[in-house]
Parts: sequence; structure tokens; C-alpha cells
Amino acid sequence: MTEVRTSPAVRESATAGDLLALVRSGRALTRADLRTATGLSRTAVVARVNALADAGLLQLGAELASTGGRPAGGLVFNTRAGIVLAVAVGRSRSQVAVFDLGGTELAASAVDHQVGAGPDEVMPGVADQLARLLTPDLPPVLGIGGSLPGVVDSARGVSVDTPVMGGWDGIALAPYLSGVADAPLFLANDADTLARSEYLGHARDIRDLLVLKASTGIGLGVLAGGRIISGARGSAGDIGHTKVPEAAGRPCRCGDVGCLETLASGWALVARLREEGRDVEHVRDVVAHALAGDAEAKQLLRESGRQVGEVLAVAINLLNPQAVVLGGDMAAAYDVYAAGVRESVYARSSAVATRELQFLPATYGDRAGLVGCAALVLGEVLSPAAIDARLALART
Ligand SMILES: [Zn+2]
Repeated sequence: MTEVRTSPAVRESATAGDLLALVRSGRALTRADLRTATGLSRTAVVARVNALADAGLLQLGAELASTGGRPAGGLVFNTRAGIVLAVAVGRSRSQVAVFDLGGTELAASAVDHQVGAGPDEVMPGVADQLARLLTPDLPPVLGIGGSLPGVVDSARGVSVDTPVMGGWDGIALAPYLSGVADAPLFLANDADTLARSEYLGHARDIRDLLVLKASTGIGLGVLAGGRIISGARGSAGDIGHTKVPEAAGRPCRCGDVGCLETLASGWALVARLREEGRDVEHVRDVVAHALAGDAEAKQLLRESGRQVGEVLAVAINLLNPQAVVLGGDMAAAYDVYAAGVRESVYARSSAVATRELQFLPATYGDRAGLVGCAALVLGEVLSPAAIDARLALART
């Protein structure tokens, strides 16, 4: 994974975990590179590299040379030293997958469920699907990355204060997965997770990024200076429930009235078409109609983009991102949706904030939730601190 931070402090006392991060990021390919990057002595580098190799995390050049891999002295991160699991819980469909430590997907599956179903109805099916993906030949599970719509308390691993996720508030999800793997669960909001997937995409080059999730609900992931901004209570970017004048008096599924979602969300678009007797169940159906040339579906998506763009324009003035990534189900009709978003962003944001602003499709499309969950858990279990703790444990 690519989120790499090295600080001057690293140079003085780089640990084995720091060294692994340098190899993973491609910034160090040999022991000599590690000495240069960290200022550590030859002996110190050899000791740390050997500890990482003993733990199966690094492969050394001599071993690889014998199999025709790399020159002697080269270091390669062993992406098969473990696996991580990804669980992206959605409102009507949940996706699960297994990834290696390099972020490559090894297996994936999905479970459909009723909109509004609670954790007791959804999570056993999710756990069952995950368990099926875990074949005996796979290395150990190091962690699980999960995402949920709405506001998430990452520290407790629970959904909080989210009327749109009725029945999930305060329910710990880790126990549902404890039978699948004895590994920690790291949980984040779905729009934040979408933004995290871009650590393996657009955020390799761009450090200030807004990532819109336009699906059944509307949310925004905020990447500022290379970091995800979650806010004091985890609700940063929850723009779908911003009150907008055009929505005055319209009831929202959050229990309030006048929210952006009552006009622009996938659920609102589906409701609009169903009132007219159209056969649509999910926003994915609306998108499919638009892609097939249906003028009304295209008009609804463009209008949704325009309304979201009005709120997004404020965020753009506030944060001055280099790019806005459009993701979620609605972004599958990218040209139509982006046209609506651009229309109001260019009309409402400041000239300086939009002069070099780019609009980009999400890198991983409908797999973005899973990739983001993998990025989340890999960032945790392969962090220098986690690796150092792992090596210390191996020595006791
Ligand atoms: Zn609302």
C-alpha cells in the first residue's frame, strides 16, 4: 500500500517496522538503500532485516536469486505472509473479499439483503460468505477491514447516531466475525472507505481530494494533505443531510425534513420513478436505464449531480482540493452525473478553487468499497508500530 510517511525522527531510530514500510513503498530495494534512507549502521540494518525475514515478511535476494527472481542483496516484501479480509456492508448488498498483503484481491463474494435489515439479519450471512472464501491453503488472517453507511465510531467499531441505519446503533460488529477469524476488526464509514480506496488510485499523486459517494445515500470522503478527515465524532463529509432550500418540508429517512438526500439520493430517485409507475427497485436500475438512453433517468441523474454540486461547491471553497472523485452507483453513469456536478460547482465555487480542479471517476468502480476496506486494514496491520509489536511478540 502506498500511504508512506517518513519523518526526520525515522532517520535517528528507524525500527524494523519503519524499514518494512520503506521496502513496501518501493523507496528501498536493498539493504544499502535502507542504510541510506535511515542512517542506520550496517549491523543495525542486517539485524532488523533478519528479524523481518524470520517473521516471513521480507524475502532476501539470495533466496530469490536461486529462483531467478531478484539480484542478490535485493529485498522484497512477502505479500503472501498473511491475508486480510474486507467487509463492505451496504444498505441492500454487502460485499466480502480476501486480499493478500500487497492489496491484490484473491477471492470475493456478495450477499443481498433487505433494505433496513438489522445486524442480526445481515451479519450472519456476511460471516458465512467470508468463511466460504477462506480455503485451507491461505496464510493467516492478520485483520479485517469493514465499512458501514452512516456515522461510525472507529475506536469502538460501531455505528452511532445514524437513524438511516436503524437497529445498528451501538452494536459491536466484531463478535459476528469472531468465528471466521481470530483477528482485529477496523471499521470506517463507507464514504471514508471509498476515499481510502484512492490511496491505491488517484491519491498516489494527489494529496487533497474530495471523494463523493453518490449511491442510495450521499456522502463525502475528505482527503486533506494525504489524510482522511473523519472529524470529532466521525461525521465529517456527511453532506446528504445538509438542509437545502429546494428540499424544504420534504421528509427524509433520517427523521428530519429538508435534507439534500430527499432530492438527490438514490432512494429519492427510485421513489420518484416508482411514483410514476416505473419498474425500478434500486438506484442501479435508474443508472441502467440512463445508460440505455432513457431520457427521464438521464435527466434525474443530471439533476441529482447538480443538486449535490451546490453543496459540494461549499466544500470545494473550504478545502481547495486538487480533484473531486465521483464514485458510488450513480457515478457509473459518469458523463451524465459529472455534467450536473460541474454545472453547479463552476457556478458556485470561487474562481481560484476551480481554476485547476479536476473531476475524475473512482479508480475501482463498484469494487471501491472492498479495496477501501483492504487499504484500511492493511494500513493498520502493516503500520510500523503494528509490525514492531508483532516482532516483539515473536521474540517472547
Ligand atoms: Zn436527512
